[in-house]
Amino acid sequence: MNERTDVAIIGGGLAGLSLALQLTRRIPGVEVAVVDRGRRPAEERTSTVGESFAELGAHYLRDVVGMADHLENDELPKLGLRFFVGDHWDLGERFELGVLDPAICEVRDGRLVGLPLRTHQVDRARLENEMARRCVEAGVHLIEETHVTECRLDPGGHSLILGGERGGALDSSWVVFASNGPVPGHRLERRPLGHRIGARWFRAEGELDVGSWSDDPVYVGRTFPGFRRLSTNHFMGRGYWMWLIPLPSGVTSVGVVYDPALMDRLPDTHEGLHRWIEAHDVRLAHELGGRAPVETEPHAIEADSFVTRCFHPDRWAVVGGAAAFADVLYSPGADLIALGNTLLTGLIERDRAGDRLAGACAVANRVFEGFAEGLAEIYRGHYGNFGVPEVVGPKVVWDSALYFGFNTLLFRHGLTGDVQFLSRIQPELLTLRALQTRVQERFRRGDPAPVLPTGYTTVDWGHIDWLMSSYYGAERQPDEEGVIRHLRDVIESLERMARRMEGSA
Ligand SMILES: Cc1cc2nc3c(=O)[nH]c(=O)nc-3n(C[C@H](O)[C@H](O)[C@H](O)COP(=O)(O)OP(=O)(O)OC[C@H]3O[C@@H](n4cnc5c(N)ncnc54)[C@H](O)[C@@H]3O)c2cc1C
Repeated sequence: MNERTDVAIIGGGLAGLSLALQLTRRIPGVEVAVVDRGRRPAEERTSTVGESFAELGAHYLRDVVGMADHLENDELPKLGLRFFVGDHWDLGERFELGVLDPAICEVRDGRLVGLPLRTHQVDRARLENEMARRCVEAGVHLIEETHVTECRLDPGGHSLILGGERGGALDSSWVVFASNGPVPGHRLERRPLGHRIGARWFRAEGELDVGSWSDDPVYVGRTFPGFRRLSTNHFMGRGYWMWLIPLPSGVTSVGVVYDPALMDRLPDTHEGLHRWIEAHDVRLAHELGGRAPVETEPHAIEADSFVTRCFHPDRWAVVGGAAAFADVLYSPGADLIALGNTLLTGLIERDRAGDRLAGACAVANRVFEGFAEGLAEIYRGHYGNFGVPEVVGPKVVWDSALYFGFNTLLFRHGLTGDVQFLSRIQPELLTLRALQTRVQERFRRGDPAPVLPTGYTTVDWGHIDWLMSSYYGAERQPDEEGVIRHLRDVIESLERMARRMEGSA
């Protein structure tokens, strides 16, 4: 096989497939090929990790990539993040932060559709199989069960040498690395971001509903039966956190993430991991006890955070998991994919219009690296306080308000990589950076932050007015002026919260 295409993407996972769909939707006539060593359809239930999407990434997949119908009909709605702190047997005695009042959810034809800014929990194989199908429908050439044996990058035209039965050369104007693994003949430099995590995860058969893990009628009565299950549920402790994510394929994703600087290496077997969970959260271990794990052993990683120089004027780029990794708390993986793919689509569009790329690539790199560095700031050095409700509550609220009121706001309005807009909001960016450094340092020190009810109590995320105003404002601005006004309101609220934490207001 000897072929030519405009854009050759190495890796047909979430990043590569969504980029292919985005390009074909955005640039009429563009030719795209995706090379993947695997084969679709992939098997459901045990596929790639990364099953919970946050607001920015979900908006990207729904509205930019065009997967809203699939996400609403064939995956699950996500009812936000829910955090439990404490190791009490009865969940009603733990600190709980999450949406409880279903009034803020949208109901259509008697069915709960989700929160106003729609997010989802997905079976990755189910989602990616459908994306691959839509890629083929859109004319993308999917080259499966093929690996790249050599990658010749040349500004005048790149060439990928493909191994396997379908071997040959694939020539292209652009090459995109979306594969996570090494590509022969090419080395990606990774800049460390100073944070390391370990993780173990697997899927358990059936549903696990944290809403029924209490005999306390007050806990049970705070929301509708089954409501809590549809959140991404977090169990926080010193040095670690654990997740439960319901999947539409009838299994529950279970994971433990820890800071190796604070904890010994976690076991790699189901038996060892179960004992570890039991030692830290006897109720969770009990509930998991009767559930058969789907995989023969848990998946395991120990990973350093990093960011790569992604966008190159000689027409090659890196996206997805290969571009950056910060942590997995708050589920930022799809956000990084959204940002990288969107910046790259803009560059490819400019290139095809005959614009020079050097300056635009430099801006895209600054924006992407700034985003990854901003993520690392909210994780680095924080795990020691993940068992302290007086820190976890305010930190989650703070991080969420900033995420909605800045990152999601700009992305949803197409302004994330807009140089003119970014230079207009320089003063706001400087204020935000200073605020962020000051407040994250306070969370790191673990100073109690008396801004939410303290002790073992419950915080309904949907009833914190200023947080909800940051949330709703992310989707409803008529123009750039509206975006700037909203950003200023968010900054004012954050400044008020910072002053309250510091005891000066
Ligand atoms: C523990 C953990 C939890 C996570 N939780 C979340 C979460 O809740 N939400 C979220 O959004 N993200 C999460 N993530 C991140 C998420 O998994 C990644 O962002 C996402 O999978 C990256 O997608 P990708 O397409 O870049 O890579 P992948 O999904 O890894 O896809 C890469 C593709 O490239 C192919 N490939 C690899 N090497 C080659 C080669 N040499 N030639 C050809 N093809 C190749 C593979 O077959 C695969 O199809 C989590 C990550 C971890 C580690």
